[in-house]
Amino acid sequence: MPRIRPIRTEAIVLRQRPLGDADRICVLFSPTRGRIEAVAKGVRKPLSKMSGHVEPLSRGQFGLAQGRSLYVVTDAQTLDPWPSLHDDVHRMTEALAMAELVDRSTDVDVSSGPLYQLLRHSLNALAETPSPPAIRWWFTLRFFDQQGYRPELEVCVRCRADVGPEANGYSAVDGGVVCPNCHGAGHGQRLSSPVFRLLRYMRRSSAESTAQVRVDAEASAELERHLRLSLEQALDGWLRSRGFAEDLARAETIGRSAVKSAAEREREEQHRAAI
Ligand SMILES: [Zn+2]
Repeated sequence: MPRIRPIRTEAIVLRQRPLGDADRICVLFSPTRGRIEAVAKGVRKPLSKMSGHVEPLSRGQFGLAQGRSLYVVTDAQTLDPWPSLHDDVHRMTEALAMAELVDRSTDVDVSSGPLYQLLRHSLNALAETPSPPAIRWWFTLRFFDQQGYRPELEVCVRCRADVGPEANGYSAVDGGVVCPNCHGAGHGQRLSSPVFRLLRYMRRSSAESTAQVRVDAEASAELERHLRLSLEQALDGWLRSRGFAEDLARAETIGRSAVKSAAEREREEQHRAAI
């Protein structure tokens, strides 16, 4: 077998899981190689020098050698430990959600520079922010844009009419806002004016500016609903495009069943809203 040269790469640790008695498998996200699964040997033993450098939700520099089936971490040096993502449960929850999204939507050996920079910037912002959900909302909108599921916020996705700031609809299945006429005809879920303005503001503003916006509980819940349905729609498409076998494997890896179709979910929510 030809000998494969060891590689060096910076990476963000997305997650890890135990392997045997002493090792862990780390899922790394590298700007040049996408998702990498690598065994960190001996890191569950006390006194392991490497264990502190392969923590999930940290960024580091890694040396990796090709093992029999997975890479093996030969050395690791933390660059960004992001302690506040580990000490604060709200920040950790948002960081894990962003990491899971990247984990589920990227492949091995795929150059992923823009997504890597987006995740790195978002985790940096999350580590500092007083408003953790706003950073995830901001990240999610840009994540959609990068992955080719860019929600339309300027014209109606049904009839292409310009949409104003008045209350409209939002359809995850059609991929964006729906004008009052088309919404009145039964398309999309209600999109309130404050949430519509917030979506447009997030698209043109920085993560830090987005975190300054005051969002009440009702608007926050509405935005979460629209983002969740859009995510399900987008992930459904990506999983489908990868083929059934990998869909199943990935769903098992993350310990969930395959994502329910957004259309089905949207219909259910509309039904619930109607009764
Ligand atoms: Zn319309």
